[in-house]
Amino acid sequence: MPKFSQESFSKLSTCHIDLQALFFEVIRTFDCIVLAGYRDQEDQTKAFLGGFTKLEWPNGKHNHQPSFAVDVAPWPIEWDYTKRFYWFAGYVLGIASRLKEEGKITHGIRWGGNWNWDPIIPNQQFNDLLHYELIL
Ligand SMILES: [Zn+2]
Repeated sequence: MPKFSQESFSKLSTCHIDLQALFFEVIRTFDCIVLAGYRDQEDQTKAFLGGFTKLEWPNGKHNHQPSFAVDVAPWPIEWDYTKRFYWFAGYVLGIASRLKEEGKITHGIRWGGNWNWDPIIPNQQFNDLLHYELIL
């Protein structure tokens, strides 16, 4: 059974309890790595300037404590193999729906590869395939 590295674990622990519950369930059957939880002003500015987010501090969901967003990739990471990120997201969102139905998490989850949750994937203005956030 896969488990988080110490670094992934400590990043996930900066996140809202629903995101923790979700990814502790996901990691049981699908190996993955947590790349970002809470982002302070310096990290948010870097992410903004790098084009990884459209939001400046303190408007990002990563800027709350605990973080309302987490960036997670299937492990091992293959950046060019984007279909794998879509496959992983389907898995994550399926587990999120189940946990919500079971009352184990209280928020819905939005994925950065399909912000509006419609059935059409190619109409996104901005793809952030690592990004999962709480619907507040
Ligand atoms: Zn993110």
